[in-house]
Amino acid sequence: MSSCLFCQIVAEEIPAYRIAETERAIAFMDIFPATPGHALVIPRRHSADALEAVAEDLAACMTLAASVGRAAVSGLGADGVTFQSLARPAAGQTVFHVHIHVIPRQDGDQFVFPWPALSGDLTEIEAHAERLRGAFSND
Ligand SMILES: [Zn+2]
Repeated sequence: MSSCLFCQIVAEEIPAYRIAETERAIAFMDIFPATPGHALVIPRRHSADALEAVAEDLAACMTLAASVGRAAVSGLGADGVTFQSLARPAAGQTVFHVHIHVIPRQDGDQFVFPWPALSGDLTEIEAHAERLRGAFSND
């Protein structure tokens, strides 16, 4: 048995409230819901996080996450959906198998954004853009 919780769910070694499945990805309920109907989408193939997953698995997960989001709107009456994926402990990741949270939202709900909406320093923003462009060319 794998030591990865989500690989165990993929292998059906532990139970989950599955919603939908595709060749590459599965969707199931998060048992620590941020809002009612909170679901997770994961690739069947293990990758620690979105920084390590292959493009085909990332595409399959986002496609399935969008389908789950549409189901939250039509089936649960959500007004919107927050899609979220955390990579590495510094970002708050706690299960190290890449996953996308699909969090149904209601107008005026109590979901808390993790950052304040404050204007940034444009000189600093431009410097970070330059560093990121440089990192792409080093791929
Ligand atoms: Zn895994």
